[in-house]
Amino acid sequence: MTPQKIVVLGAGITGLWQAYILSQRGHDVTLVEQGNTAFNRAASAVAGAMLAPWCEGEAAEPAIQELGLRSIQLWKEVFGGVKQNGTLVIAQPRDRNELKRFAAMTQNFKTVDEAAISQLEPVLEGRYRTGLYYPEEAHMQPVEAMNQMVQLLMAGGAKIIWNCRDIGDLPNHDLLLDCRGMAAKDELKTLRGVRGELLVVQSEEISLSRPVRLLHPRFPLYVVPWSGNRFMIGATVLESEENGAVTVRSALELLGMAYALHPSFGEAEILSFRANVRPAFPDNIPKIIRQEKRLYVNGIFRHGFLNAPALAVMVADYLETGRHPGEMYKDVFVEDNGQW
Ligand SMILES: Cc1cc2nc3c(=O)[nH]c(=O)nc-3n(C[C@H](O)[C@H](O)[C@H](O)COP(=O)(O)OP(=O)(O)OC[C@H]3O[C@@H](n4cnc5c(N)ncnc54)[C@H](O)[C@@H]3O)c2cc1C
Repeated sequence: MTPQKIVVLGAGITGLWQAYILSQRGHDVTLVEQGNTAFNRAASAVAGAMLAPWCEGEAAEPAIQELGLRSIQLWKEVFGGVKQNGTLVIAQPRDRNELKRFAAMTQNFKTVDEAAISQLEPVLEGRYRTGLYYPEEAHMQPVEAMNQMVQLLMAGGAKIIWNCRDIGDLPNHDLLLDCRGMAAKDELKTLRGVRGELLVVQSEEISLSRPVRLLHPRFPLYVVPWSGNRFMIGATVLESEENGAVTVRSALELLGMAYALHPSFGEAEILSFRANVRPAFPDNIPKIIRQEKRLYVNGIFRHGFLNAPALAVMVADYLETGRHPGEMYKDVFVEDNGQW
């Protein structure tokens, strides 16, 4: 394979992984980002960064799960901050049907009783009688992980251009990999935004080793433990492209559910409320769309961390072999016929 000059547009989690894998394969890669290195514009920077292929199986297609399983491995190879402590899913006694429904829709879990729950998460002792434990799932801190990808890119010789205001003036290239998330909406006409809101709190009274999901018919919640006694609490899933601040309604829902999960959250300090918009196609399946000298990789919805590494490998393999990745990925890898 002849190495190509490739420009990757957008340093969200999608673009970072595309740039990394392609430069590992010997291509001459330049990553171009309009924001600064603090990832102030990327939806990726506010993600829960859970690698939860089994829990996401509740609503996601098998292709997303498959990409997720491959991606966990890839993440572990490049980032020491991946914690593979599994996921614990619980519900209040009145919502036990939610737990049954979730169990029926997912795989690769163990049903856990009160004693097992308190062994996994001592802080929950005596609060939940039954739950589901997904031992192979993982999580990380998003900005830490993105910074690691930047370090790896620089160490591998890729070029990075930050604060790029004008994409009319890109470096010379054979291929443009467009990973701009929602900013590509004018060109990808079926791309839509799904707003997500979250808060980060700090508490000395709570300690968790893994993401905990509290099921609820209307306001499901997850809490992801971060370093420094911080917890990411999320997230709303709203059919809206509004990128403004968190609304009072959403804040009340998130705070109320966190308090229901454990009353000690009532004493926690709120560090921040944040919101951003997930890029998604109508079927919520990410797409690699070929269009002459441009490949779009977009629509990664709520699976950016879960799917970006394996999608990047898929693109690199395609550039080497010219072959479609197969039936499982027929809705992922598409030729553009104006449909998208
Ligand atoms: C609250 C919340 C929780 C989430 N939790 C999880 C989770 O637990 N696990 C998971 O896997 N996923 C999660 N996600 C989903 C994940 O965040 C998204 O799938 C992912 O961020 C999409 O990544 P992206 O790189 O495609 O887009 P983005 O992260 O939005 O990146 C696009 C980048 O392109 C740049 N850009 C735009 N226009 C230009 C231009 N003209 N020139 C140069 N650069 C440009 C932008 O500045 C941005 O940096 C969550 C999302 C939200 C909102």
